[in-house]
Amino acid sequence: MFNHEPPGYPCPFCRLLAGEETVLNGVRDVVLRTELATALIAPRWWPANEGHVLVIPNAHHENLYDLPARYGYAVHDVIQQVACAMRTAYGCAGTSTRQHNEPAGDQEVWHFHTHVFPRYPGDNLYRTTVCTDFAPIAVRHAYADKLRSRLS
Ligand SMILES: [Zn+2]
Repeated sequence: MFNHEPPGYPCPFCRLLAGEETVLNGVRDVVLRTELATALIAPRWWPANEGHVLVIPNAHHENLYDLPARYGYAVHDVIQQVACAMRTAYGCAGTSTRQHNEPAGDQEVWHFHTHVFPRYPGDNLYRTTVCTDFAPIAVRHAYADKLRSRLS
């Protein structure tokens, strides 16, 4: 429903779920995997909200309109676990979630995902329209290790 995924789209999240490593998504970025959902450190970086997490269903569904309920529940369960772990592992003062659908909604990857951000007083997350860069792999892994230790 209201799909924008091009034919033959090489989905980066399906590739990761199959164990394929790319520059932007590696197996070590995964902090939690359940039967139906997976959480990983996002490769894109917001400078005041480092180490934010993406939570994805373990099956390819493009957006919120298409997402079967059981995957929606599983994704939300993982979001809750990640937010609680983030709060203690990162020492952030709060958390926020964001989820985008269609180009007008700023969706860029055509596999449903919800962002979980660590929040700090005055971080201006919602006034930041574009993140500055991709995170270096070593920095992503440091956050992944920190978060994973609170999730196991
Ligand atoms: Zn996919």
